[in-house]
Amino acid sequence: MSEDVSSDGLPPLRDVIAKHGLAAQKSLGQNFLLDLNLTRRIARAAGALDTHHIVEVGPGPGGLTRALLMEGAKHVTVVERDRRCLPALEEIAAAYPGRLTIIEGDALETDLKLLVSGPARICANLPYNIATPLLIGWLQTEPERPWYDSLTLMFQKEVAERITAAPGDKAYGRLGIAAQWRMKARMLFDINRSAFTPPPSITSTVVELIPRDQPLAPADARALELVTAAAFGQRRKMLRASLKSLVGDATALLEAAGIDGTKRAEELSIEQFCALARAFKSKA
Ligand code: SAM
Repeated sequence: MSEDVSSDGLPPLRDVIAKHGLAAQKSLGQNFLLDLNLTRRIARAAGALDTHHIVEVGPGPGGLTRALLMEGAKHVTVVERDRRCLPALEEIAAAYPGRLTIIEGDALETDLKLLVSGPARICANLPYNIATPLLIGWLQTEPERPWYDSLTLMFQKEVAERITAAPGDKAYGRLGIAAQWRMKARMLFDINRSAFTPPPSITSTVVELIPRDQPLAPADARALELVTAAAFGQRRKMLRASLKSLVGDATALLEAAGIDGTKRAEELSIEQFCALARAFKSKA
């Protein structure tokens, strides 16, 4: 027998969108998921929910929000910029008394950790136009440990590949290093464009990021960002040439880090980038 997906007693999302006039706006990265079986699959991928406060950015009409609550999230806090969505979200809050907090605002300007208490997770189908800056902001918690136990996030597939890329991969670069230095990152599953209303032009991928107990190797976050930016800024060049943009003559830096200057950025492990960052910081 098929699962009863409307067991929250709320109307189908298509009706919610029609009732509240939520025609998708491209400028807000609005591609809605209307299939509750699919949003429930994403919610389940986020790990234990009943023990955690879940933060969702960009709930829109509330497909993933409803899924998180149906799957037993202890509490969900949503941050939505489009005030047209608020009445639809209020209806969900009424169906789950005391379990949903709605914040109207720009997630880029919101310090999410101030919205939660106790163990927390972030789970979201992110607006594509700001997905990367949001992730970078959430990664930067040093010197404190991340305040969340996991990030379960949907990105354009191409961005998901960059986040999870290994040395030698075409997609390996700054974003993957910034993420994997601090997190264990893996792609969970793809979602076909046809699942969205309206369909985006590309496939989407759900990515899981779990904070490491400690970063992969010691480094100053800013120094690591500077050396990776310089190295991948000219990714086809040898490091002794690409790092010139950072330090003039890179020979001493490469020597101090024990790295062969004829290598290219894409050949270095994250640990080797950390060695470069330490050498750079000690000379700065
Ligand atoms: N969660 C819904 C779903 O899965 O169907 C909607 C996802 S849609 C890809 C992205 C959502 O993020 C939209 O509801 C959009 O209004 C919202 N959004 C866009 N920019 C935002 C911002 N800066 N802060 C908060 N929400 C934003």
